[in-house]
Amino acid sequence: MVDFRLGEEQEALRASVRDFAVEQVAPVIADHYEHKTFPYDLVRQMGKMGLFGLPFPEEFGGMGGDYFALCIALEELARVDSSVAVTLEAAVSLGAMPIYRFGTAEQKEQWLPRLATGEALAGFGLTEPGTGSDAAGTTTRAVLDETTNEWVINGTKAFITNSGTDITCLVTVMAVTGVNPDGSKELSTIIVPSGTPGFTVAPGYSKVGWCASDTHELSFDDVRVPAGNLLGERGRGFAQFLRILDEGRIAIAALSVGLAQGCVDESVKYANQRTAFGQTIGNYQAVQFMIADMELRAHTARLGYYDAASRMLAGDDFKRYAAIAKLNASNAAMENSRWATQVHGGYGFMNESAVGRFYRDAKILEIGEGTSEVQRMLIARGLGL
Ligand SMILES: Cc1cc2nc3c(=O)[nH]c(=O)nc-3n(C[C@H](O)[C@H](O)[C@H](O)COP(=O)(O)OP(=O)(O)OC[C@H]3O[C@@H](n4cnc5c(N)ncnc54)[C@H](O)[C@@H]3O)c2cc1C
Repeated sequence: MVDFRLGEEQEALRASVRDFAVEQVAPVIADHYEHKTFPYDLVRQMGKMGLFGLPFPEEFGGMGGDYFALCIALEELARVDSSVAVTLEAAVSLGAMPIYRFGTAEQKEQWLPRLATGEALAGFGLTEPGTGSDAAGTTTRAVLDETTNEWVINGTKAFITNSGTDITCLVTVMAVTGVNPDGSKELSTIIVPSGTPGFTVAPGYSKVGWCASDTHELSFDDVRVPAGNLLGERGRGFAQFLRILDEGRIAIAALSVGLAQGCVDESVKYANQRTAFGQTIGNYQAVQFMIADMELRAHTARLGYYDAASRMLAGDDFKRYAAIAKLNASNAAMENSRWATQVHGGYGFMNESAVGRFYRDAKILEIGEGTSEVQRMLIARGLGL
């Protein structure tokens, strides 16, 4: 029989992240959001709680948990705020995870202990100004200079999360490193430490949402790094990024469920306080139905990511289920933010209100780590189409 209830340890983790989000994140996040400042203090506290190390073994400074534990934490953070949640999501599932999954023993030893404690952050450099969904269109090039035994990297990456904070230590960069025997591009991943000469971080983007998270364009102008900075095998870059994105979709689904659930929380609270025509608006069935539909979407989307995560942890092929979870949960987040704003009337349109931020934060969930169209392509492919 399937059981979707959390175990004791998972429930304890959920409750402690919930308390942190309500007590520490909620009071300060509107100000960070308004001023587009990165919440270093919250990141430090999350580091102390062990959130950056949830899926990593203790030998690397991690908590010895699993990917599902990370998802639980992401859901509870996003229930209050998505900028903080995506900072954790990108740091762990996009930043540190490639090093853990594909790095050499030396690379893991060098980078993971700081990443797993949140002392340092890493970025994931796949998207370029001219290519996102079609990652095989990568144009950034890395040429091996055999005289110095260094990679020489040239190109530009776009929209890279956590790539320009004061504590960012590296970016993994997907680059063309040659031509395969069939004529296709040979793609490999290379670790580029922050501060390497020729590696420039542009000022942060002005974004619609996730305003307290860190996103930059990066340029690489004859950037030289040792040949040993190759991540895993040469020519395996594309496969590595696909694996990381498949997992990451479950994490984004969890984050989306958190936002969808936060919409329910805020709407129930508001509907029980706000009066109109002599009654609290929660007495009107039209409002009740809006909120009931929100709860339906949040709950069923949660089951979707639980299912995808359990398949992944069991070692099954989970690609299609991760795409289903992400597509459904991002849709739930979008819909719920729309209706939660409606429940709040004019107050919902104010940036200081949590649902105003949910509304602005929801859209990117249908775009980042694979657009909704890409998820549909993956589901269709999984069906043999
Ligand atoms: C805030 C933010 C943070 C991000 N963080 C990172 C990061 O840390 N690292 C990173 O590498 N990237 C990051 N990204 C990039 C993100 O993953 C891409 O924006 C996303 O994958 C879509 O790529 P694109 O923007 O190039 O859109 P495109 O690929 O150009 O897509 C444009 C539209 O065309 C559609 N489309 C494309 N191809 C097809 C097709 N074959 N069939 C049907 N429709 C199609 C898409 O679905 C979309 O609707 C981030 C983006 C944002 C906005």
